[in-house]
Amino acid sequence: MKLAVVAAGMLVGFVAAPAYAGQARRAPTQSPGPSVTVNGQTWTQQALFQRNVGGPGDMTTAFPPHKVIGNIYYVGTKSLAAFLIVTPAGNILVNSTYERNMPLIQKSIEQLGFKFADTKILLGSHAHGDHQEGDALVKQMTGAQVMAMAEDVPALEAMKPEGKPHPIDRVLHDGDTVTLGGTTLTAHLTPGHTRGCTTWTLTATEGGRTYDVAIVGSFGVNPGFQLVNNPAVPNQADEYERAFKVARSLKVDVPLGSHPSMYNLEQKYPRIGKGPNPFIDPAGYKQEVDLAEAMFRAVLAEQKKAAALP
Ligand SMILES: [Zn+2]
Repeated sequence: MKLAVVAAGMLVGFVAAPAYAGQARRAPTQSPGPSVTVNGQTWTQQALFQRNVGGPGDMTTAFPPHKVIGNIYYVGTKSLAAFLIVTPAGNILVNSTYERNMPLIQKSIEQLGFKFADTKILLGSHAHGDHQEGDALVKQMTGAQVMAMAEDVPALEAMKPEGKPHPIDRVLHDGDTVTLGGTTLTAHLTPGHTRGCTTWTLTATEGGRTYDVAIVGSFGVNPGFQLVNNPAVPNQADEYERAFKVARSLKVDVPLGSHPSMYNLEQKYPRIGKGPNPFIDPAGYKQEVDLAEAMFRAVLAEQKKAAALP
């Protein structure tokens, strides 16, 4: 089955794996979905999704590469985050994004004074093409070891740009760690958005202080996503519940995410170097979790009502 396009070409040409079927649109017209008001701002489900994926071209236009904190750098596009974690033993790339973004990511890495060829490990946020389609190409270009959460492996294996098999060198499980050159990342299974959606945590040091950093996989419910009676994932809503429990258990000073709008990069970027590091934003993390959870509960309530469930 070929999937309907959810928005902005995000899933174009992507052939559905069974675990992916919940992403298919249920109605031919795109309704705005339920709306929630959190922290004084009102969002519809569709508007929140659009906030993440951005406008036309945002997914494939470079955002100025920059240092986030410590040894963590931003090398992604305007709406698709990619992070480079630099260590004396080589670098870790989190998210390849689309294959066609590879020249742009390579250029961003070089602009920061690093080498793409030094990429030793490739990690990902979750098994959707806009975050991990480029994995095979990164492997081809750098020889990086590709590591993925076990629950995302089936969906990743179904991702074969131009027929290339998806490389997976190490299968991770919830709580596993990845270490390179003195930096350790912990993989937290935060399922729902995909079955193996992963939130990465690590620490970063700046000005003699150590900060807890989280790269959130996603807590979002895309328009048309079936939380109730999903044939592919019968306990779909429970998976999100697990993700929110994990999200609230993490201590986060520096929230990052698979889409930069999840942590307000556009507002923070101009403040770099003009006072305290703008990416230190524990309150922003809580607000984003509150917003995502409120939207999840609103969508779940609407779908339960439509299915005449209690
Ligand atoms: Zn996604």
